[in-house]
Amino acid sequence: MKQIILSLLIALALPAAAQNFDEYFEDNTLRLDYVFGGDSTSQYIQLCQLYKQPRWAGRRARLAETFLLGNAQINVFDSASGRLIYVHTFSTLFQEWLNETEATQLRRAFEASYNIPFPKKPIDIRITLTDNHNKVTTVMTHHVDPKDILIRPIGDNGIPYRYIVKSGDISQCVDLAIVAEGYTADQMDKFYRDCERAADAIFSHEPFKSMKDRFNVVAVGAVSNESGPSEPGRGIWHDTVLRSHYDTFYSDRYLTTSAVHRLFDLLSGVPFEHIIVLINTPRYGGGGIYNQWMCSSSDHATFKQVLVHEFGHSYAGLADEYNYGDNHVEWYPSDTEPWEPNITTLRDFDRKWKDLIKAGTPVPTSPTITDYNTARREMTTAQLNEKTQRVGVFEGAGYMARGAYRPAELCRMNVNEVDDFCPVCTRAIIAITDFYTGTVK
Ligand SMILES: [Zn+2]
Repeated sequence: MKQIILSLLIALALPAAAQNFDEYFEDNTLRLDYVFGGDSTSQYIQLCQLYKQPRWAGRRARLAETFLLGNAQINVFDSASGRLIYVHTFSTLFQEWLNETEATQLRRAFEASYNIPFPKKPIDIRITLTDNHNKVTTVMTHHVDPKDILIRPIGDNGIPYRYIVKSGDISQCVDLAIVAEGYTADQMDKFYRDCERAADAIFSHEPFKSMKDRFNVVAVGAVSNESGPSEPGRGIWHDTVLRSHYDTFYSDRYLTTSAVHRLFDLLSGVPFEHIIVLINTPRYGGGGIYNQWMCSSSDHATFKQVLVHEFGHSYAGLADEYNYGDNHVEWYPSDTEPWEPNITTLRDFDRKWKDLIKAGTPVPTSPTITDYNTARREMTTAQLNEKTQRVGVFEGAGYMARGAYRPAELCRMNVNEVDDFCPVCTRAIIAITDFYTGTVK
């Protein structure tokens, strides 16, 4: 049955003829709030609430295109014709948790919120979760009538915001929102300064630097009652607007928020597409989930590097290019080509970065650095940065020492000591920016 559903989805997700945004959608946003729950053996999706928010900040072309599969998909169909009219893909903290031992012993629930353009006519929304074989594990379909009186209108919520970068109208640009977390009322000046630093971090790295005129960045000054995130491992709990904390899944550096519905509430007055939660703390930490959010601590020495790395996850769906050594978790099974653009299991390498490899480069490619800790002590930053630009197929990626491969020895998605994305990540960021801004290449 699952196989039939998957085949049906693939058939329906074939590139549709270019369609006019105005034919099916108005310039407003339909916000969908769900709860994802379950355990490692069975999962469910439940709808919580629908909202209507002014303006639509997302793409207005390539609407029915599945650009990256992600770990979950929303497919929107016109009810009358059955035609696929919009696709949104993403990953979830819930699915990360499903890999934890806790998920074999306990059923838990996670909040999720997504924006799609507001339909003019009734639609059917199919939401699917997929596993690391890219197979559908959970599916839920629901009907939405745009005239439903229970769709709650939302808008200006009184939370101040200001543009840090304003390159154009929201219909033309990628709209990033930076949301304050763990900043008290008298720390708001610091928040806006930190937002300037965050924007500087992103736009000092290529390829973002050359594409800055395609981005808007808006800072949303949500006030917390107490300063700094919670630190459960140190017994510290703070009353903050997004209840962020370290020790997510008991990993001390994993700093996240689970208050996703609340996060979207804070953004109800601001048109946005991508979210950076800027968390007021000097302690190292963060996280990034493709098309959900990225969280970054504001004052650690590696602030810029971590922020850009996590943004690579949340914005462009890039995978981690590092590994945990000999760890036996099969994050990326050998019978499946990962959907992330910057790693491969060699299952279907032809559709990855084969075209960027110089003729004669062996696959897999032998690294020139055998001990990274020694290299980082003995090599200059310029020497390390050189390693980001030689494209090959280096074993060790996606947390796995064996069986998963990365495009460069070093990359922004691998280690903090280098500045640059490798050519494969760079190409992926440019391509997804074209996709988000509706540019047909
Ligand atoms: Zn890379």
